[in-house]
Amino acid sequence: MAPQDAAAIGAITRDEAVTIIAGPCSVESLEQMREVGACLKELGIRVMRGGAYKPRSSPFSFQGLEEEGLKILRAVADEFGLLVVTEVTDSAHAEKVDEYADILQIGTRNMANFSLLKKIGQVTAESGKPVVFKRGMAATIEEWLQASNYITMFGNENVVLCERGIRTFETSTRFTLDITAVPVVKKLSLLPIIVDVSHPTGQADLVPAVSRAAVAVGADGIMVEVHPNPREALCDGPQSLDLEGLRNLVGEVRSVAVAVGTDLA
Ligand code: PEP
Ligand code: MN
Repeated sequence: MAPQDAAAIGAITRDEAVTIIAGPCSVESLEQMREVGACLKELGIRVMRGGAYKPRSSPFSFQGLEEEGLKILRAVADEFGLLVVTEVTDSAHAEKVDEYADILQIGTRNMANFSLLKKIGQVTAESGKPVVFKRGMAATIEEWLQASNYITMFGNENVVLCERGIRTFETSTRFTLDITAVPVVKKLSLLPIIVDVSHPTGQADLVPAVSRAAVAVGADGIMVEVHPNPREALCDGPQSLDLEGLRNLVGEVRSVAVAVGTDLA
């Protein structure tokens, strides 16, 4: 499938059905991604995630497979008929990522990197490719929504907001999920809003409860980190579900979606 088809498909829509985006924190190998891709296909999940360029807190941590990772994502997505979302960390990689991905992602550490936002707005202006735009971990909702205009101002209105937890004084979770952001954004904006259920918790056993909450509160989708073998993951293993965990999660969130009058996309 050509990358630019995602816009036409309406991968993540506002107030229609709940889209699940799943995949590892980072692309590690073709074998790893094929295991994930096969599982997603079996579960009816259409959008696969995976980082090729990783914005790590330490420069000594695994930085991603870069273009090799993009190639793996594209090959696996095409093999299993999936769409791919992956992060752009630097304006210098924008065209390259756009070549391979169906959906571009901007991470929390770059929410206020306005030159990167403008670059992504320009690169996707013609294709109208969706851009998953994460909230800065220390940004207000107002700042986040204003920053989204740096992308849309070039003509691509297909921005998907993603709440991923903010910094508070609480230390029992990695971040604090601002679940209220979902109804607040629905009041202030017409854009779809999804919830990253992995990064706020930092712990895989908390992911199902947070996912149910996200769907119940009206999120248009959830993004969840999964790995065939979380204990061996090169990045974010402790918060990653294994494939059995993902299978269970899909059943749980489907029940909640139906209970609140919607369904899984
Ligand atoms: C990610 O989704 O891979 C990621 C790095 O998330 P965040 O930008 O929210 O930390
Ligand atoms: Mn991660």
